[in-house]
Amino acid sequence: MEQTHQGLSSKSEALIEKENKYGAHNYHPLPVVLDRGEGVFVWDVDGKKYYDFLSAYSAVNQGHCHPKIVGAMVKQAQTLTLTSRAFHNDQLGVFEEYVTKYFGFDKVLPMNTGAEAVETALKICRKWSYEVKGIPENQAQIIVCENNFHGRTTTIISFSNDENARKNFGPFTEGFIKIPYDDTDALEAALKSSPNIAGFLVEPIQGEAGVYVPTEGYLAKAKALCEAHNVLFIADEVQTGIARTGRLLATCGNCSCTKGCENTPEVKPDILILGKAISGGVYPVSAVLANDGIMNVIKPGQHGSTFGGNPVAAAVAVAALEVVRDEKLSENAERLGIILRKGLNEIASRNSLISLVRGKGLLNAIVIDCDEESDLAWQICLKFRDYGLLAKPTHGNKIRFAPPLVITEAQIQDCLAIIEKALNDFK
Ligand SMILES: *Cc1c(COP(=O)(O)O)cnc(C)c1O
Repeated sequence: MEQTHQGLSSKSEALIEKENKYGAHNYHPLPVVLDRGEGVFVWDVDGKKYYDFLSAYSAVNQGHCHPKIVGAMVKQAQTLTLTSRAFHNDQLGVFEEYVTKYFGFDKVLPMNTGAEAVETALKICRKWSYEVKGIPENQAQIIVCENNFHGRTTTIISFSNDENARKNFGPFTEGFIKIPYDDTDALEAALKSSPNIAGFLVEPIQGEAGVYVPTEGYLAKAKALCEAHNVLFIADEVQTGIARTGRLLATCGNCSCTKGCENTPEVKPDILILGKAISGGVYPVSAVLANDGIMNVIKPGQHGSTFGGNPVAAAVAVAALEVVRDEKLSENAERLGIILRKGLNEIASRNSLISLVRGKGLLNAIVIDCDEESDLAWQICLKFRDYGLLAKPTHGNKIRFAPPLVITEAQIQDCLAIIEKALNDFK
């Protein structure tokens, strides 16, 4: 796509040019070149400072370059980085105990990226369905939702309905049934449609689809339906998890504890998928959590990853999860999310460009009053950039607002002023 880089320095232009020339064009980044981050801020190569309102798609919940997390990484990187799982290492078991107690599951299977963790969950679910539930071999079906985003592997795009993500990547993996999101009637019908349903994979809030928050009670009802049909409820909390929505997990519902699912959550998934902020954005770490009755279907040689569960990842993830607890990031996300949405709704009442504000905690979006094909949201994001705030459109006319959870109330107010000023330029 052609884009004009109005106002960019020649240094930035040259660096963008290198990416265009030597890198595959699989992304369409906002034209800004960053070289430093700290807390809620990032700086470009010319020294200009910005609020980060994307947080690397909610990977940087703990803020950029959190000293405790980076410290854990540096220390471990200087000691032992990779053993592979052919041998034990002194960090993995410590991480496994910490993360399972933190989220209240018997066992964890560590991987690296979110998509790998989703793949892992699908494999565990299928294997459980054959070996425990007793579905005939190769007959298992997994229910997924329309407009889902679970990553970019061949199997995952097989059940996406984003044409751009699928076109000319076939043939696709079979065994998925797609139903509308936020629709328990459709779920019930799908569950009744076949005795061979193994699982239901769902995002507690559809982030990439534009921060689509389901009806109150949807997840609990869906979980109850799954239980009634002996079907695994698989929550993809790669984006919604780790304090982003004002709870440790979005499936925690209204439980306000900081102990995660040790207490009684609104919905306890059978399989929980985590990624992104489990490392505070400093290193790729993902994880699949489940209880023994499910996780024990995996035996040596049946699944793995060279880097999954490596000592650096283990040390980083423990530090990143400690920061979430020590700095009360769930509470901060809940409190500041309310203030942010209130401010955005006030702006919307003065400026008709915003047709809707939605979200939970600090995972929010505004819907711009234009159609999905318009480039108005992109133009608005360029204007935000000019005024010192970085955000990116998702699905055409929606702009996600997801700052690091260490943001303060004064900074939120500052950002609201930037957002209103930028929007007023389009009046
Ligand atoms: C980002 C994301 C993924 C994929 O994670 P990667 O690390 O990019 O592979 C999966 N599910 C959800 C909900 C996500 O937001």
